[in-house]
Amino acid sequence: MSLSKDLEKAIDDAVDGEHDALAKLSKDIHANPELRFEEHKAATWIAELLRARGFEVEHGLAGMSTALRAKRGNAKGPRVAILGEYDALPDIGHACGHNLIAMSAVGAFLAAAKVVDKAGGEVVFLGTPAEEGGGGKIKMIEAGVFDGLSAAMMFHPFDRDILAHPALASVWLAMTFHGAPAHGAAAPHDGKSALTACMDTFRLIDGQRVHFRDGVRVHGYITNGGQAVNIIPELAACEFSVRARTAPELARVRAIVERCAAGAAMASDVKVEIVARQGYRDMRNNMAMARRFGAHFERTSSGRKALETDERVGAGSTDMGDVSHVVPSIHPYLAIVDENEALCHQHRFAHAAGSDRGLKTAVDAAKALARTAVEVLTDDNLRRTVQEEWRASR
Ligand SMILES: [Zn+2]
Repeated sequence: MSLSKDLEKAIDDAVDGEHDALAKLSKDIHANPELRFEEHKAATWIAELLRARGFEVEHGLAGMSTALRAKRGNAKGPRVAILGEYDALPDIGHACGHNLIAMSAVGAFLAAAKVVDKAGGEVVFLGTPAEEGGGGKIKMIEAGVFDGLSAAMMFHPFDRDILAHPALASVWLAMTFHGAPAHGAAAPHDGKSALTACMDTFRLIDGQRVHFRDGVRVHGYITNGGQAVNIIPELAACEFSVRARTAPELARVRAIVERCAAGAAMASDVKVEIVARQGYRDMRNNMAMARRFGAHFERTSSGRKALETDERVGAGSTDMGDVSHVVPSIHPYLAIVDENEALCHQHRFAHAAGSDRGLKTAVDAAKALARTAVEVLTDDNLRRTVQEEWRASR
């Protein structure tokens, strides 16, 4: 059974009725980029809009002042969460388009909440901070925010429409090299260069790339390159992101990267200290739900037919991956630029996130998200299929 025409129309009308408020929210967040855990303006604007529509908003969850939750409906029935992100990137602002994610999630929640009493069950809005390296959703999982949910969903801007693109499991490795300082000209023979070991780590890792499986990504940057031009660097530091399609491959490649750092340190007779930060888990896209989203999006967008995946384009990582391991989840990507015109984390993409085209896609996404959420609430068979697929994937 698919969604009734009445419910579809009520949802689409509700999103259209909020168009100006949603556009303003997206524009304001876009014009005021805030870094992970510091999304105070964005979280306040979202909470203000929801409160103005009569919702109680919990502000501050899982120890994060910028996490939000609002609900409507009957918590004894099935419960579906729609997730918003709103953090930006250093220097390049909203180059991941999280302002559009926030806007579409708020729009979808407002629309689904309008019909939830007819649909049965509960719809939940979750404002999830710090996707860019902070893992806000992981903190919310640990705090039990996702307990008892039947499904979770969000959309992400991209350069093409893809329903179920992979996201890579990841870990961050911070490496600090400790050498011995000496005058760079008068007594270089007395020094041990931490920077040489740091740079050798990059070269050794590059040499190992022939052994990486498809989809592996290892990329880093030097965070401390020394102290002065005339001192053999006593201290140097770098950070790597290591990513792979599966947890076992991630563990294997992480061991290679750490071995390279140890080998480089040995060559320069310096010490290396490695601190690992929890990364994100791989994304387990729920195909039953992703296909329903695709069918709805085709209609809300007047005919855009999304691919299920696209091998021609690379994958990143998201803390929605962690959510997908505890609740059946979707994270479809929708185009706000032409294919290959720009991708996330580029200046051009930041511009697109503030464009009319970006806004239009996010509005269509809001309708498709709300329709999918309400369909999961109303359709017992769909819910069962979603659950069975998720259980089988574990
Ligand atoms: Zn993003």
